[in-house]
Amino acid sequence: MTPTRTPGHGPASSLDLRVTALPGVGEKYEKLLERLGIRTIGNLLWHLPRTYLDYSKLIPIRELRPGKLQTVEAILGTFNQRRTRTGQQMTEIELLDPADRAPTRVRATWFGRRFIRERFREGQLVRISGEVKPFGASLQFASDVTMEPAAAEAVHTGRIVPVYALTEGIGLGQLRRWMHTAVEGGARRSPVVREIAETLPNEIRERRKLLGIQDAVREVHFPSEWPQLFAARRRLAFDELLVLQVALGQRRARWTKDAKAIALRVSDEELRGWIDTLPFALTRAQIRSLEQIRTDLARRIPMSRLLEGDVGSGKTVVAALAARIAVSSGAQAALMAPTELLAEQHFRSLASLFQSGGPRVALLTSSVTGAARQQTLDRLASGDIDVVVGTHALVEESVLFMRLGLAIVDEQHRFGVRQRATFREKGIDPHLLLTTATPIPQTLSQTVYRDLDISVLDEMPSGAQQIRTEVRGADALPKVWPWLRERVAQGEQAFIVTPRIEENLDDDIPSAEATFRDLSKKELAGLRVALMHGRMPGKDRDKIMLRFAEGEIDVLVATTVIEVGIDIPNATVMVILGAERFGLAQLHQLRGRVGRRGQRAYAVLVSEKAEESERLAAMTERKRLADGSEVPLDGFDLAKRDLEIRGAGEFLGKRQSGESELRIVDLADVDPTLIDETAAEADALLARDPQLEAAEHTALAAAVDELWRRFAFA
Ligand code: ADP
Ligand code: MG
Repeated sequence: MTPTRTPGHGPASSLDLRVTALPGVGEKYEKLLERLGIRTIGNLLWHLPRTYLDYSKLIPIRELRPGKLQTVEAILGTFNQRRTRTGQQMTEIELLDPADRAPTRVRATWFGRRFIRERFREGQLVRISGEVKPFGASLQFASDVTMEPAAAEAVHTGRIVPVYALTEGIGLGQLRRWMHTAVEGGARRSPVVREIAETLPNEIRERRKLLGIQDAVREVHFPSEWPQLFAARRRLAFDELLVLQVALGQRRARWTKDAKAIALRVSDEELRGWIDTLPFALTRAQIRSLEQIRTDLARRIPMSRLLEGDVGSGKTVVAALAARIAVSSGAQAALMAPTELLAEQHFRSLASLFQSGGPRVALLTSSVTGAARQQTLDRLASGDIDVVVGTHALVEESVLFMRLGLAIVDEQHRFGVRQRATFREKGIDPHLLLTTATPIPQTLSQTVYRDLDISVLDEMPSGAQQIRTEVRGADALPKVWPWLRERVAQGEQAFIVTPRIEENLDDDIPSAEATFRDLSKKELAGLRVALMHGRMPGKDRDKIMLRFAEGEIDVLVATTVIEVGIDIPNATVMVILGAERFGLAQLHQLRGRVGRRGQRAYAVLVSEKAEESERLAAMTERKRLADGSEVPLDGFDLAKRDLEIRGAGEFLGKRQSGESELRIVDLADVDPTLIDETAAEADALLARDPQLEAAEHTALAAAVDELWRRFAFA
């Protein structure tokens, strides 16, 4: 695991010291701490509490009640040590009332914990925190009880106490003690916290009423009071969001600086003419998105727009019209698809959308070779081709454009953003249109995706029909397969999707290979069943998809490689095994693969995990709209659920293992005002100091660098 974030600080700081510099941390613990990503004292400080226990209120012993976390002061009475039947050492101490030294009906018990005897003595005044349980007629502090001398500074009791994520071999008390030394200082040392450099300019801190970084770090570990803890967490969350906003703002500035995109314009009449020749009427959402794109294209600042819409919402035609705007302005457009087969499909759709006299379209994939390839390359370079459709190879190879005005990246928006740099290196700066079927929840569009403008297709073309979805246990499978045979007998086709390629005998996660092998021998014997997964060469996968599309295969057993896939007009059945292993938005995309012609279609989500069925039930849930009608949850609702349940990791991506989440901020549940505030401050800050060169921005600049290192959404 890689080290966790280190707070900003100057050179030669104690924050950079190995954790062994702390009293009590030897090499053995250094190794264990490394498992938590902690190597330096700075790393340690960034290991934030998982939660807190409120041991802040002292109550008199006689008011102790069972079943609650409470703290008392007591005088230790007689120590009793004996061995239990299992051979464990047991220490039992009577507790005396500190007011009058009278015996109470409360005692404390420890198992193991030899040090209790060594560190404490009879007659000593202590603080004890924990929960008491009835024990005969008396009460007993047992398991998870904490005790420290009343004369000592409150670390483990008598305060709001931090609770940390641990690793085997390190006790909570130990880690808390080390943390306390780092935060509050020890016998001969001053607190390391004092060496943390302030990341926020004073002006922002004052305007937003934020704690200083040192106070925030101290209070987040050892809160003096609850409101202070909230203030500390708000400060740290502010930092984290601000760094994110600044990073994205800088990237956006890089994109728009020295803007040299070609302004692409089209007249109303011309545009209307194209739309009128389409075989269908555009949805309102398509028209709205097209207008947004059109406005962007007309400027010299390159567009960075994400076109977001459920599977089947009709993104292709919007992209095609955008390409047509580029062409009518004398520029070229490129459309990149994630697979060769999909590129071929787009090529065919574009060719039919642009009827005779429209843009000249060419296909360029690695299957186009030899003289044909050379000819396409030449025609692209001379401007003889208007729109080129292909895979990533389009940008990676030495493909030369006469005048590239617009690049469209289908269903790979993260890739698309990185692609911009590649284009720029070639000296061209096209408008960029990214498409995705993964809806972006609002908190993400205001943070992680803030440097993209977003157009949403939130309306399905009429005729696109709901897919009937059911969630079933594996015991339903004996009925599913004969039913599936029945569908095939009617001339329909089916997908069976599994979470895994190969079988693993240690678990029973359904695998494509085993499912294919078993079904084609037994339940689906006699049908034309094929297997496809991501470890097969792209060429072989394409061949299978093509045969499936042409009806030469009845049932395709596959992994999620089909997720962003080609259109199989006749497919009506999607069976997903081990459905609990997929995100909801992903399941939604998968089921969007069937019923593509608006015919009746089915998705059967099979899961053994009863405890997951609630999450999966969202796939069949309906919501009521303002007009009273009921509709199934759409990809948007489902992505939001995913974010709530599984966190933002999937959206952020990760560059290094174990580094997929923000540390403080939960993007599924963040205070929207904090997003607004950090966005405003980031903008103001970059307006004044775009490169963060001012001395007071050094720490912030370092944090921004660190962010780019951690996340893959760059
Ligand atoms: P996706 O958004 O998943 O990429 P496509 O662009 O492939 O969806 O469109 C899905 C299907 O819907 C295609 O067959 C397309 O021709 C059709 N379609 C797109 N827009 C409309 C519309 N406004 N009315 C009817 N059908 C449409
Ligand atoms: Mg599409």
